[in-house]
Amino acid sequence: MRISAKTKINLIIGEPVEQSLSPQMHNAGYEVLGIDSEFVFIAAQVTAEKLEDAISGLRAMHINGITVTHPHKITVMKNVDKIDETAKKIGAINTIVNNNGKLIGKNTDWIGVVDALEKVTSLNNKSVALIGAGGAARAALYGVISKGAKVIIFNRTVEKATELAKEFSCDFASLEHLEKIKDMDIIINLTPASMNNASLVDKSFLTNRHVVLDAVYSPFETKLLKDAKEKGATIIHGTEWLLYQGLAQFEMFTGHKAPEDVMRKVIMEHI
Ligand code: NAP
Repeated sequence: MRISAKTKINLIIGEPVEQSLSPQMHNAGYEVLGIDSEFVFIAAQVTAEKLEDAISGLRAMHINGITVTHPHKITVMKNVDKIDETAKKIGAINTIVNNNGKLIGKNTDWIGVVDALEKVTSLNNKSVALIGAGGAARAALYGVISKGAKVIIFNRTVEKATELAKEFSCDFASLEHLEKIKDMDIIINLTPASMNNASLVDKSFLTNRHVVLDAVYSPFETKLLKDAKEKGATIIHGTEWLLYQGLAQFEMFTGHKAPEDVMRKVIMEHI
């Protein structure tokens, strides 16, 4: 262990937080780059009621970087000093950087979606079916639209899809109209429905022309991804999103380029 009194602390806050892979992923990166005496990454369980106290404490302790996860991504926006334009448009923060005592809120979730997709496909002029209208959907929506994709939002509660579609100038539909995805290029599941070995997308709608990303990574290969794979589609696991949002954070917290292969290996070992 090379931690000393000079080591800068990065940490993830959320509730629950024990399942987070961020500490393993970031610390493995510090070790391989030989910066594990400069940085350490830990986790802290923070309840919604204690969020404000927690941020005050982290500010007082000059904590270097904060990863924000469920359920604080929206509420924490009122506790930072500045929010960058992208995070403002998305309406959520998953990253806080301490810039000489000023806490700056940012969002790397959209980078996670875009980088995971762009590894296998371009996004410009592609049609994207976005299933879900929560916080993750907002980040994905911002990301794919900024890369020139055309989006239809499908959501269980149609009113939420309507509002989101209005805000981001795209189309929307209810889950009853998911057959529309047959003719679309990219499908992204942004609902926790995949966690229970269920899929909102009928297998008959999937083809070998589709690129399919599931935000859910537990289970690692969801029913949606299994069905898509059987139909010959290109699939992207939720772990890739997790990885790419983390690589972007790593660089914001340390100023070093993140070691992608090492950090992916750590995720795969712990998933
Ligand atoms: P959220 O804000 O709670 O939104 C959940 C969305 O899913 C809502 O649109 C909700 O529809 C819909 N939904 C929930 N249960 C459903 C069901 N049984 N059937 C149909 N629709 C359902 O959650 P979130 O923060 O956007 O996260 C969504 C998922 O993405 C979570 O599983 C999260 O773990 C995952 N995620 C993964 C990554 C990654 O790095 N891979 C990053 C962020 C999020 P209504 O509007 O009708 O309620």
